[in-house]
Amino acid sequence: MIRFHNTLGGKVEDFVPIEPGHVKLYTCGPTVYDYPHIGNWRAYVFEDLLKRFLLFRGFKVAHVMNITDVDDKTIRGAQAKGVGLDEYTKPFIEAFGGDRDTLAILPADHYPRATAHIPEMVALVKTLLEKGFAYKKDGSVYFAIDRFPAYGRLSKINLDDLRPGRQSDADEYEKESVHDFALWKAPKPGEPIWETEIGPGRPGWHVECSAMSAKYLGTTFDIHCGGVDNIFPHHENEIAQSEAANGVKFVNYWLHCHHLVVDGEKMSKSKGNFYVLPDILARGYEPLDVRYLLLSTHYRKMLNFTFEALDQARTARQRIGNFLGELKGVSGTSENTAEVEPLVETARAGFVAGLEDDLNIAEALASVFTLIKSVNPLLVRGEVSKDGAAKLAAFFTEIDAVLAIKPSPAVAASGKIGAAGDREKRLEAEVQARIEARQKARAEKDFARADAIRRELLDMGIVLEDTKDGVRWKKAGPLRP
Ligand code: AMP
Ligand code: ZN
Repeated sequence: MIRFHNTLGGKVEDFVPIEPGHVKLYTCGPTVYDYPHIGNWRAYVFEDLLKRFLLFRGFKVAHVMNITDVDDKTIRGAQAKGVGLDEYTKPFIEAFGGDRDTLAILPADHYPRATAHIPEMVALVKTLLEKGFAYKKDGSVYFAIDRFPAYGRLSKINLDDLRPGRQSDADEYEKESVHDFALWKAPKPGEPIWETEIGPGRPGWHVECSAMSAKYLGTTFDIHCGGVDNIFPHHENEIAQSEAANGVKFVNYWLHCHHLVVDGEKMSKSKGNFYVLPDILARGYEPLDVRYLLLSTHYRKMLNFTFEALDQARTARQRIGNFLGELKGVSGTSENTAEVEPLVETARAGFVAGLEDDLNIAEALASVFTLIKSVNPLLVRGEVSKDGAAKLAAFFTEIDAVLAIKPSPAVAASGKIGAAGDREKRLEAEVQARIEARQKARAEKDFARADAIRRELLDMGIVLEDTKDGVRWKKAGPLRP
């Protein structure tokens, strides 16, 4: 049974989809007023892990992600640049699609754009007016929070902070001043205007997601995701609008990822710690190193982005790459071969159990590295059969449908360990290369890296000895897993 932490209720719950075998998933997409930053990518990679795991477990997933191409921020940006909304948002939408593919995120089934769904939003606002949940004032339409008794349940707002009857036109505001929010905003000079049945104007941000999710997924669906910053007011308002208008429960499971921070601080342009994906790739990292880093911390924990952590992500992927390279080189000549199937079974069970437990990625990855650790000494001693190597490789292909972090075959093939050639010679070359890398790290006083290399070698069944004549190495004694 898969279990998720549901923000609505604050508990871990069994996941039961509305329709057996099918999952309807809505994830709040980018507000395209700037290039997506790695904080956004943390949210999208978490959602991708969730979706890939559901697919892995045999569910069909209908996934919708909106593109917010009209809101306060996009309008401000377009005005500042003196261009139309379309022209302003285009490069950001393109960058989003490009980075998404670079990070191996599966595309959603639909990317509805807010500007292409004005009639749906107007219809929703009309219904809210007709049902008495909304009222008009000075050409705008507001949602009356005191007419929706469940208001505040998701974000657990303090009812003392409620300011019903007071309005604000801002899309974003703090929990401390909860007021009636704008569904439809009266025309302002320089803002885009749509002529509609509810008057001229433009939509508020929150109504976009309510209208577009209903169009593509129906009025009740299974999972809604976003970052924790979306809980209030955005998701609280989505619930109010959708449930008030449709009279049915909006979403069964709300999953929110915690924020990514940089060096312990909130990422912001003014602090200069604001990273977009191309900045990081320009430093020589592979896109999937970034993906690995983003997904390897549990989604409900804050993720502190540092280049040190990114180096560790790269090392982790290299370990996997080296292991896969080793498997390719298995010639299966030894008579004394070990059974790898039980090790694979244990790893698979741990991987699945981890992810079933509210996407516990640490547990899932630990079972993968335990497998590598158990098999490496067998590889060093030539005790893995060709068939065993194939089973191990197949397992990595299987789990990569969820993780998508495996080095591409080209990268694996270009690794220090080639697919052909004498096994012992390749092992020697590999060990020598690592010893040299360790010496270099020590000379640069990067002792953490030096120690990591020593441990990697140990995982491979190689013991180092620092002698006065230099570094010597030997194979560790027999070690049966
Ligand atoms: P936005 O483009 O600001 O509407 O955000 C798009 C998605 O990224 C939303 O789900 C946000 O909650 C999420 N997000 C924004 N900043 C961060 C961050 N620093 N860490 C994690 N998720 C974030
Ligand atoms: Zn949304």
